[in-house]
Amino acid sequence: MSNLQILDKQYVANTYARFPVEIISGKGSILTDSDGKEYIDMGSGIAVSIFGQGDPNWLQAVTEQLGKVQHTSNLYYTEPCAKLAQLLCEKTGMKKVFFGNSGAEANECAIKAARKYAAEKKGAEYSTVITLENSFHGRTLTTLSATGQAHYHELFQPLTPGFAHTPANDFESLKALALQEKTAGIMLEIVQGEGGVIALDKEFVQATAAFCKEQDIVLIVDEVQTGNGRTGAMYAYMHYGIQPDVVTTAKGLGGGLPIGAALLGEKVESVLGFGDHGSTFGGNPVCCAGAVCIVERLDDAFFAEVQRKSKKIITALQGAKGVKSVSGLGLMLGIETEKAAKDIVAACMEQGVLCLTAKAKVRLLPPLNIPDALLDKAIEIIKSACAS
Ligand code: PLP
Repeated sequence: MSNLQILDKQYVANTYARFPVEIISGKGSILTDSDGKEYIDMGSGIAVSIFGQGDPNWLQAVTEQLGKVQHTSNLYYTEPCAKLAQLLCEKTGMKKVFFGNSGAEANECAIKAARKYAAEKKGAEYSTVITLENSFHGRTLTTLSATGQAHYHELFQPLTPGFAHTPANDFESLKALALQEKTAGIMLEIVQGEGGVIALDKEFVQATAAFCKEQDIVLIVDEVQTGNGRTGAMYAYMHYGIQPDVVTTAKGLGGGLPIGAALLGEKVESVLGFGDHGSTFGGNPVCCAGAVCIVERLDDAFFAEVQRKSKKIITALQGAKGVKSVSGLGLMLGIETEKAAKDIVAACMEQGVLCLTAKAKVRLLPPLNIPDALLDKAIEIIKSACAS
């Protein structure tokens, strides 16, 4: 084991099972380790570096802002924060944005907004937030409580009260639960990412959205993983023809710097007032300047490219030897394989391709601008790892 790995094991909390790979640099969709070995990055830091490593425009935006002011506080105005909020609202039809630092923090804001809205409209007892079984909404205690996977809950009792879970794609069960509980909000991932890259059924999502409207329940869509072009649309809900009340986003939004955002629609835009919520680093000018540079480039032509590359992967892998099925949307794909996913990931790594897993699947989340030549090479390596 190298000195770095010994140091890391000694001093960094044991929460991550790391591969024995030390990444020291990257350019675009290529990462280089300490032995000089190059890898095609099919994970982009779990859906974060959507324009790859060291994207020149992003780098310029971030370094320019670093040279001006790296941080103030939310007591003062800064331009990147306001500009990013404007861009996000213009691209979604949402009305206001709260900035934090992560997906979990964005979801915390969404949950608070739903509870306060319901408390004011219907009474404080209307506090339940319903989420789906097999969902993932974060690691803070409240977002963990929202997460519909019991194994994450076991050792962290007592959880935050006020969450109930119902099976995905079963609208009648969701409706029954929502009517039985005093429901403030319903929160969905359009594609369950950590749960195995499973897109929800359109009818279920549309029926849920209509039900929320009818019952005046806050509909929250968690787009932390699916957002910012990942599925071939600005946000995945746009494929489904619905308009959520809150959209949460993080990961790809910052292109590699920590940022999370809760986009608040008309129903809840004014629900959180002075002092109701806050975050020291929320709206940090450097992170926001980088995010502006990302979001500005997310347009229909770009989404069409994401969809084209997605089709290329699906066409190559669907029905290939050792592949049982391919799921997901855009460049968020899960491959169900005959061999164990972890063995495929290890074989790909050996051959210079970094992939992820999600439950029993191999998960692909490449940079959205990955060049075709690299994508083709990665597909061949993944295919042969599945076949052997
Ligand atoms: N929500 C979803 C759908 C996610 O995929 C994740 C992270 O994987 C989170 C929330 C939590 O985001 P973060 O790790 O930035 O807190």
